[in-house]
Amino acid sequence: MLEIKKYKFWFCPCSQDLYGDEVLKHVHEHAAEVVAALNASDKVPFEVVLKPTLITSDVIERTFNEANVDDECAGIITWAHTFSPSKSYILGLEDLRKPLCQFATQYNEEIPYDTIDMDFMNENQAAHGEREFGHIFARLNKNRKVVFGFWKDPEVQAELGSWQRVAVGCIESRHIRVARFADTMRNVAVTDGDKVEAEVKFGWTVDAWPINELTPYVDGISAADVTSLADEYYDTYDIILDGRDPKEFRSHVEVQARQELGIEAFLKENDYNAFSDHFGDLGDLKELPSLAIQRLMQKGYGFGPEGDWKTPAMVRLMKVMTAGDANAKGSGLMEDYTYNLVKGKEGILESHMSEVDPSVADGKISIRATPLSMGDREDPARLIFTAKTGPAIATSLIDLGPRFRLIINVVDCKKVEKPMPMLPTGTVFWTPRPSLKVGSTAWIYAGGAHHTAMSYDLTAEQMVDWADQMGVESVVIDENTNIPDFKRDLKLGSVYYR
Ligand code: MN
Repeated sequence: MLEIKKYKFWFCPCSQDLYGDEVLKHVHEHAAEVVAALNASDKVPFEVVLKPTLITSDVIERTFNEANVDDECAGIITWAHTFSPSKSYILGLEDLRKPLCQFATQYNEEIPYDTIDMDFMNENQAAHGEREFGHIFARLNKNRKVVFGFWKDPEVQAELGSWQRVAVGCIESRHIRVARFADTMRNVAVTDGDKVEAEVKFGWTVDAWPINELTPYVDGISAADVTSLADEYYDTYDIILDGRDPKEFRSHVEVQARQELGIEAFLKENDYNAFSDHFGDLGDLKELPSLAIQRLMQKGYGFGPEGDWKTPAMVRLMKVMTAGDANAKGSGLMEDYTYNLVKGKEGILESHMSEVDPSVADGKISIRATPLSMGDREDPARLIFTAKTGPAIATSLIDLGPRFRLIINVVDCKKVEKPMPMLPTGTVFWTPRPSLKVGSTAWIYAGGAHHTAMSYDLTAEQMVDWADQMGVESVVIDENTNIPDFKRDLKLGSVYYR
């Protein structure tokens, strides 16, 4: 499973010195209790660390600037236990570069009807304080996440935990490094874009490499290492010979084992965590990397084919955002291929010519080596499987010239009615919400690509929150979508994000 840095979140109670030391002592004690509960919750994946109460402009500015330079801090969680005048936050918020969650909670769940007096009201006025605090974000037009509710409520804790993964995605986005072997497929628009703007907005590094810079890494893998990895494949997966000679079949599998080790060696030595290639520009490689790339995606590398560099970055982002989730069902590259238009059975068959991420596989995975109609190489060995069922999101980040748009479609993944024995690729079948017709119509109006980064584990809300923090437009196609409203949203977005 992909391992990422042990990020921490700073928990900052908000107050002021007007109330006296006794109240500030209670604020600190209550905050410590909330922090302990969050750290004990299995809904909150990253550690929460209690920081000093924010009471003056100086403390706030210093704390936020310390957060900016702390490599382990992935975000700040604030809680306005009492009233905390928000002019005090202006300087700090102008400096803050880490994601911030306004945790609009309260120490007590219920109003203490029998004992409540003005002292209690002064000490416990989150309803008052969170509004003052919220105002300054609106005034400064600063992004933040609001999570509202009682801190012991598992649903509220889950919302906070879900935002933590978004915040980690925002921090880790800056460390996404994509190696592009060969350029974008000629004349294709949607997979291309402005790499400088991608670095400005998302922090992505996107570098070009001639494919033959990779070849020495592939050729340099020892025969013993190739044999050993191919043995591991034979132990792990079912072998479908399709009538081929077993020895000849194994030679195709070994080409892929060599490529897996060679590509990974290249990526590690040159510090990349995502990459793209192009079936039309394979240099001295014997086969289109297929099984090799499928395995690398499963290990946590982002990938996109045909020179597409935005999809590998998004796939890597999703893998980072879901890292460490023991219940994760998978995230990876998909491509919209073929519709089923039969009434009541509508959906899209998702796949790719070979590079489909096995992290989404359900059950048995097999290896086949069949001819590839694209390109001019030997038959690549690849992993064949069908995918898990259930809700998922499909996303496409597109470049509209001066800006980006993230399109998010909530989809329902299903089993196809019948096996597809002639199809030598991994597949997913999904029905877009609210329906194939409306979902696809909206996707096409929005300009979404045929390549998607999909995830069973992330929600549309998380991707919207990520896009908000990055300062780019996002549009959601889900059960509430209708075409007239969606078209209006696209027009509004084009004005807001110009
Ligand atoms: Mn493609």
